[in-house]
Amino acid sequence: MTLIRNIDRYGALLHLLLFALLFSPQLQADPEIVHIGVLSHRGDQATLRMWGPTAAYLATNIPAYQFVIRPLKFDEVNSAVETGKIDFVLVNPGIYVNLEVKYRVSRIATLYNRRNDVPYKIFGGVIFTRQDHPEINNLEDLRGHSMMAVDTTSLGGFQMAMREMVEEGIDPYTDLQSLQFGGIHDYVVMAVLNSEVDVGAVRTDILERMASAGTIDLNDFRIINPQKVSEFPFALSTRLYPEWPFSKVAHTADSLAQQVAVALLNMPHDHAAALAGNYAGWTIPLDYQPVHDLFRTLKLPPYQNLGKFTLSDAISRYWYWLLGGLLMLLFMVVMTLWVMRLNKAIQKAKNRLELQHELILDSVADGIYGVDLHGRSTFFNKAAERITGWEAAEVIGLNQHDILHHTHADGSPHRAEECPVYQTFRENQARYVSDDVFWRKDGNSFPVEYSSTPIWGDSGKTVGSVVVFRDITRRKRAEEEARQHQLELARAGRLSTLGEMASGIAHELNQPLTAISTNAQASIRILESDSANINVCVDVMERIASQADRAGEIIRQLRRLVRKEPLERSEGEVNDLVNAVVVLIWPDVRRASVRLELDLEEPLPRISLQPIQIEQVILNLARNAIESLAERVNGERMLYIGTRSEPGESIWITVRDNGPGIKPELANTLFDPFVTGKPQGMGLGLSISYGIIEAHGGKLSFNPAYRDGAEFTFYLPLRETS
Ligand code: ADP
Repeated sequence: MTLIRNIDRYGALLHLLLFALLFSPQLQADPEIVHIGVLSHRGDQATLRMWGPTAAYLATNIPAYQFVIRPLKFDEVNSAVETGKIDFVLVNPGIYVNLEVKYRVSRIATLYNRRNDVPYKIFGGVIFTRQDHPEINNLEDLRGHSMMAVDTTSLGGFQMAMREMVEEGIDPYTDLQSLQFGGIHDYVVMAVLNSEVDVGAVRTDILERMASAGTIDLNDFRIINPQKVSEFPFALSTRLYPEWPFSKVAHTADSLAQQVAVALLNMPHDHAAALAGNYAGWTIPLDYQPVHDLFRTLKLPPYQNLGKFTLSDAISRYWYWLLGGLLMLLFMVVMTLWVMRLNKAIQKAKNRLELQHELILDSVADGIYGVDLHGRSTFFNKAAERITGWEAAEVIGLNQHDILHHTHADGSPHRAEECPVYQTFRENQARYVSDDVFWRKDGNSFPVEYSSTPIWGDSGKTVGSVVVFRDITRRKRAEEEARQHQLELARAGRLSTLGEMASGIAHELNQPLTAISTNAQASIRILESDSANINVCVDVMERIASQADRAGEIIRQLRRLVRKEPLERSEGEVNDLVNAVVVLIWPDVRRASVRLELDLEEPLPRISLQPIQIEQVILNLARNAIESLAERVNGERMLYIGTRSEPGESIWITVRDNGPGIKPELANTLFDPFVTGKPQGMGLGLSISYGIIEAHGGKLSFNPAYRDGAEFTFYLPLRETS
């Protein structure tokens, strides 16, 4: 029993021991290590010396953790935060705002700085010169003077002062005579005091601290841009900024951060840890916006790119515009391609049209060329090339007048101002020139008729003219031939007239001569019945009679000569003769507004005739008809010429008009010479015609039954051809 009780007692003891082992602090697991990164700007040893007690303070207050100070050089801070090697970080406000932006570090407390045993959670910069420096009184006066600051990265010892200068429009790097960095605040103060530089920039309280240490006399210095802030006793030239923040890194648990913050805020101002770190405890985290503003103004990291707009910024900000723009561009490219294709098709169609146009122009027999407003040829068709001897390529672009139209037919110069082609587009009116000359490349001229018509552009304005010309050499020749023909006709007419006149004279003389002869013979008979002087008388009378007979015979011979002379004939077609007459009377027909009706039987048998004479007859009848039609004032004037054949017999030609008709008093003597109803008439036309037809074995007559005007008909027998 005792043993059992003893065993029980030992058992309880064992339990107690186990419990003690489990729960005694010495026997617990090692506390978790918390790393506090501290900016070490005075060397690692100094940092550990200053901040080690603070770590120990935290460990005491938060026993579950062991706090270790990790001194960090400037360039080590970022990577330490980024890689998560530290859990808290204690850096100056400038570095802090960068970490805040880049790594979402967040402050949990702000340091109370200790100055003359008074805690300050804010600080600023001071810009100063020597009291005896007469030229510098305000920021503006800094231009052109030398300056020394602590370091480019020093917030209180440079950047704060720089912000004030920049906002005043002074760039310390370009507007000062020189800018140096002393590295240490005290050194900067001494450089100014020793007149090495004109101006110095240090953080607040440096001057006061040095003065209280007896190194300097504050009266030796003048503060530039002095600022008065209540409850801030130090000389100040800039805005105020919060002191160093104690921050937690993003990965650090909020519960731990909260415990650390509470511990720090609870630290008494004069705690040994605070004294070791030369600070005066901690306060709630301040607003670091002023530091952000400063960095923004100076375009320092993290705001170095502020105002710069990079491509990626543009893409991320305006992606929808860019997308829209790209789509628009795509659309435009597609449209452009489409328009280009369309253009191509149009160009093709245009080329085809041009080709057709050219083909048409080139197949026309008339010469065609275009002229622009300066008189230069714009096109020249094949016929124009053929007629003038010029090739299109030689002429296009040159002045058409100088090439084709420079000289009149008589050799006198043709002035360009008078050129009808130019007048066409000057007066905007088409022109037709029936008789002119153009000049060939070989220097010869040829007669032309041409028209010049204005060309109107799209805007409705004249852009030139088109000239259509025709070589009328053949027509002119034909005209000349016709003229000759007419002359011949007239000559034939004159000859016939002469013959008729002779015939008339012979007719008139024949009767008295016959009477002379008869009377002479009667006298002879009377004298023969008497005996005295009769012989003489008979001789004379015989001579008279024989002379009279002789005269009669001569006249008879003359008559025979002019009327019965055999005609030189040829085979001809009466319709051809009618057509030839139509050509001759055409101008009169037009002038007298006569409607000419041709009613020609086709084909007519050919016939032996004297063509000139038959033409003369048709011409006489037609001319008489036209002259009589002049008297018809109202109604249509009509001239009819018809041909008919009586197979194997004869050809009939009728000339009819709807004029006033034959005057009744002339009806019986119409075919006699010198019978006329016109004041200037000769009265020979019909009688000659009658004689001609008679000589051809035919007969000319007029139809007295025809009442609507006058109708003459003649026939020609087909004797020799039948
Ligand atoms: P001329 O014409 O010189 O008078 P013609 O012998 O040709 O000589 O004509 C004789 C006359 O016959 C004319 O003056 C005219 O009075 C008449 N005559 C001829 N043809 C016609 C006609 N078609 N209509 C009316 N009268 C005509």
